[in-house]
Amino acid sequence: MNPDLKIDLHTHSNRSDGTLTPAQLMAHAAAAGVEVIALTDHDTVDGLEEARQGAAAHGLCLVPGVEISCTWRAQGIHVLGLWIDPGGPALRRELDAQAERRRVRMRKMCARLEKCGLPGTELLAAVEAQPGLPTRAHLASAMVAGGHVDRAEEAFRKYLGAGKSANVAAEWPALVAVVGLIRAAGGVAVLAHPARYALSAGARRQLVADFAAAGGAALEVVSGANAAQHVDAVAALARKAGLEGSVGSDFHNPQLTWNPLGRSLKLPDCVAPVWRGYIT
Ligand code: AMP
Ligand code: MN
Ligand code: MN
Ligand code: MN
Repeated sequence: MNPDLKIDLHTHSNRSDGTLTPAQLMAHAAAAGVEVIALTDHDTVDGLEEARQGAAAHGLCLVPGVEISCTWRAQGIHVLGLWIDPGGPALRRELDAQAERRRVRMRKMCARLEKCGLPGTELLAAVEAQPGLPTRAHLASAMVAGGHVDRAEEAFRKYLGAGKSANVAAEWPALVAVVGLIRAAGGVAVLAHPARYALSAGARRQLVADFAAAGGAALEVVSGANAAQHVDAVAALARKAGLEGSVGSDFHNPQLTWNPLGRSLKLPDCVAPVWRGYIT
């Protein structure tokens, strides 16, 4: 395996809350020197066929993926499924259900915004006019476009973040069930951005232990723009739990210049790469 391989196993297109089409994302990745890329849209595999064609056109290796929202002890957790068969029937059924949960939740959040004095009906229409499965990121961008907040972060801080007035906790499936679905679709389960969840150190260790016991394969050791401060801690968690490591930018948007595609995402040597056995 080439140790300098440029690999990114966590990205989004406009089939969820990214801004680039899958084809644009592949072109952008190739131009940035990425060699292996996973498309991991939130709760949908709709972009994978377009991504496959784009990757082939640019000589990129595409890893078919998805990022599934689930719950563990009432906390929202994201699990990446990599090397999945997007046609796997049980996975397909669950993603259809997730799409419906997201649409219902979006309607509820907009109704709450209406109660807060914002034009919830208009915001819902604006979200529904955007491509992709609706996420809070779509709602935040509609709120920015409508002049209700200056920036997406403000929308989360004032309205959409956990515990805020317009936040609706979705009824996501349990973490253990989601790991099982990914495996049943021939995929490998990776716990996304383990350092990002608001958990005590003990709870985080228990999350990792439960994930491993459920058949999870790896932790996302190098994750996103704020990687450096957490890499060692997550690598240690992975080693203790006997899990492999993954790397991903969580790229959404080329305008977020602090988190570009093509940055070096180097996995520490002490952790076995999750792509070992898949990429030579
Ligand atoms: P959802 O999956 O619908 O709960 O939406 C979560 C998405 O919103 C994440 O994947 C991010 O893309 C985005 N997001 C979450 N928190 C923030 C924040 N504080 N500022 C900007 N975007 C955020
Ligand atoms: Mn997102
Ligand atoms: Mn995530
Ligand atoms: Mn993501």
